[in-house]
Amino acid sequence: MTPRLWAAVTLVALVVAVAVVAALRVPWSAPPSPRADQLAALQSLPADAVARGRAFHGALRPGTYGSMAIGLLLALVLGLTPAGAWLVEQAGRPFGGHWLARALLGGLAVVFAGELITLPFAAWRQSVLRDYGLSTQGWGGWAGDVLKGYAVGAVVGAIALVGFFTITHFAPRWWWVWGAAGAAALTVLFSFVFPVLVEPVFNKFTPMEQGELRTSLMALAQRDGVPVRDVLVADASRRTNALNAYVSGLGPTRRIVVYDTLLRDAPPAEVEAVVAHELGHAKFKDVFTGTVVGALGAAAAVCAVYLLGSWTGLLRRAGLDSIADPRAIALLMAVATLAGLAAAPLQSVLSRRIEARADAHALEVTDDPSTVERMEERLATTNLADVDPPRWEYVMFASHPSVVERMAAARAFARGER
Ligand SMILES: [Zn+2]
Repeated sequence: MTPRLWAAVTLVALVVAVAVVAALRVPWSAPPSPRADQLAALQSLPADAVARGRAFHGALRPGTYGSMAIGLLLALVLGLTPAGAWLVEQAGRPFGGHWLARALLGGLAVVFAGELITLPFAAWRQSVLRDYGLSTQGWGGWAGDVLKGYAVGAVVGAIALVGFFTITHFAPRWWWVWGAAGAAALTVLFSFVFPVLVEPVFNKFTPMEQGELRTSLMALAQRDGVPVRDVLVADASRRTNALNAYVSGLGPTRRIVVYDTLLRDAPPAEVEAVVAHELGHAKFKDVFTGTVVGALGAAAAVCAVYLLGSWTGLLRRAGLDSIADPRAIALLMAVATLAGLAAAPLQSVLSRRIEARADAHALEVTDDPSTVERMEERLATTNLADVDPPRWEYVMFASHPSVVERMAAARAFARGER
């Protein structure tokens, strides 16, 4: 068998593996959330809060989708014309066009061209957040975050670019094997180190203070059969008024994090309801599932890129002889951008199913649907949610069920519908 045939067989096997893992670990259907209850929930929400959430999202949309469109356009122009290859050559020039310089500097030039062209949209977004009082951050702090984001992106990008093109350089025939294994390994490693290396760049995390709330949260986790060493509090208030909590990390780095804004603004019973949702993620090992799917997906993407390399028409269009050449970075970015957009609806629906399961878990563990519903209402009002977003946006990008769906699920639970 030729390397190409092996790569095709491996790609099929990886895609099947992703489908099997998703089918086994993501619920096939969401818990009941009747539309009649959704509409009743919508009626019960304060009308001015609903209107404010709609107006806020209406104000964000032009920037969000404008940024997406410009980013896509740039990726296509650089990737599907010789412009991208030219940019990579220029970046490697001070080093005599050495392949390593092209991979690292050329790669970062392509990535940062995208960041730079969408920067005005990011600033626009921040000004909307400030206008609506959601952001508590001045422009200095915001710029600092942007720079930190670039620094993290540069480090992660450098590791991926140098790793990938070192492999293609030294294993010209079988690079896809090592590349696929490396991409999967990096994904797993990143999941482990993200909470300890990346999150602290942006926030400070402190163990939750001893006291009644901490004791009751630890007891809740104990009752739930989810061992939690600690609940960490993030100093989110330096940036936002939004309320949130999340789980990240794997094994020894797994942690439940709550925003300090949540402790400041929500009564203890509602904080418990939020943490019960996060315990659901921990219990069902959703971070682990995401990591496995991500690792298999990354390996599949490397195989797909290798196979794409035999499409000579595409290479010629981008002014390339080989897809394994650092000059192909812009083409790879264009393909990744298109693939990301195409996969968004699938990724979103899987995420929504996982989130709905965590919601159901919160209802079961607390057995207090009215508190869960009040918590949803508080989060929606404070975070300026679009409580019942346009259908197309929901299908394409919503990572969570809508607020009215979540409230309706609590109402159905209260009636004993499971
Ligand atoms: Zn969640």
